[in-house]
Amino acid sequence: MIYLDSAATTKPKKEVIEAVMPYLNYNWFNPSSLYAKGQIIKGEINLARYTIAESIGAAENEIYFTSGATESNNWVIRGFDDNYRFIDMPNIVISPIEHKSIMMAVENPALRSNIHICKVNNEGLIDLDSLESILKSIQHTQILVSIIMANNEIGTIQDIKKISALVHKYDGIFHTDATQAFGHIPIDVKDLGIDLLSASGQKLGGIKGCGFLYIKQGINIRPLIYGSQENGLRGGTENVIGIIALKKAVELSDLNNTKIKDVRDYLINRLKTEFDCRINGTLDYRLPNNVSVTFNENVTGESLIYLLDMSDIYISAGSACNSQTQEPSYVLQAVGLYDEEINKTIRISLPDDITVSQIDKFIAELKSQIKLLTNKQF
Ligand code: PMP
Repeated sequence: MIYLDSAATTKPKKEVIEAVMPYLNYNWFNPSSLYAKGQIIKGEINLARYTIAESIGAAENEIYFTSGATESNNWVIRGFDDNYRFIDMPNIVISPIEHKSIMMAVENPALRSNIHICKVNNEGLIDLDSLESILKSIQHTQILVSIIMANNEIGTIQDIKKISALVHKYDGIFHTDATQAFGHIPIDVKDLGIDLLSASGQKLGGIKGCGFLYIKQGINIRPLIYGSQENGLRGGTENVIGIIALKKAVELSDLNNTKIKDVRDYLINRLKTEFDCRINGTLDYRLPNNVSVTFNENVTGESLIYLLDMSDIYISAGSACNSQTQEPSYVLQAVGLYDEEINKTIRISLPDDITVSQIDKFIAELKSQIKLLTNKQF
């Protein structure tokens, strides 16, 4: 198997599986129980909280476990709005390349908020002038700005430090969806000026259904899920397995990225020289594991997914989160692609242990499928 869809999910690491097994077999007690067996697990959860906090330069009491980044993102949008809607009309500013869990949360008619969408350029980077002119136009109300740190479809990484400085200049609160970045590139919330940050364990070798929200001390948002756990801000018996997995995955994460970047650049080079295609998003500021490519040949991303599937090779067209709908990706539209070009786009996202020989096999298979679809000779 050649798995090239790590932005959709990652294989849980061997060490992660080993780390969670005792919590399935023996340590399955409720962390809220007062007897020692419960309290030991509560201690393990707090150790995980400490490890995760430390990895992003946060304090232990600023990390709240959730069911993943979808919940964290929903929590930020709904919690912010609930906090301020009775005081004034809160304003929320987002970019056009946010994940669906932000896009759909702000679309919810229950939100009375004023929603503003800033521009991105064709390289997939936030247009800071457009963001500033929106912030300038909003007066006398609470402002939340939510900008994705690294995009899940095109892999572009935003200048978070500059964005947060701009947001704070206008007294806004800054949230970033760091789901694709966390565990892959270094993040320091204090240095980057982040007030709220979402992440998910399944994107760094942890398991699905567990993530967290970082809430900077002093920032107030209402709970999305009421209950006594997580300091009364996120109810529900903790997902102990998911939390232990997340801790292990963080301990194993390699932020150095030299090897994977080399393989990614090798892949980009082969695509650019051997195919009639273009790479989407800036090459200068991008995730070490992401390549989004649009072919000029008469092929569709969808047909390539199905053909490569038969050869045990796994890629994605646009984003896995969009694959239920047949609508063209709004992220690719926002960076200037026409619908016809979007149909000819695939996303290749590399696992940590990718090798050059796997890329060679992928390229050979890709050529033979394109030949089959178009009669093109390579
Ligand atoms: N944000 C981004 C950028 C993502 O890529 C994803 C996962 N596709 C999410 C949020 C949601 O994560 P989860 O499905 O683990 O809740």
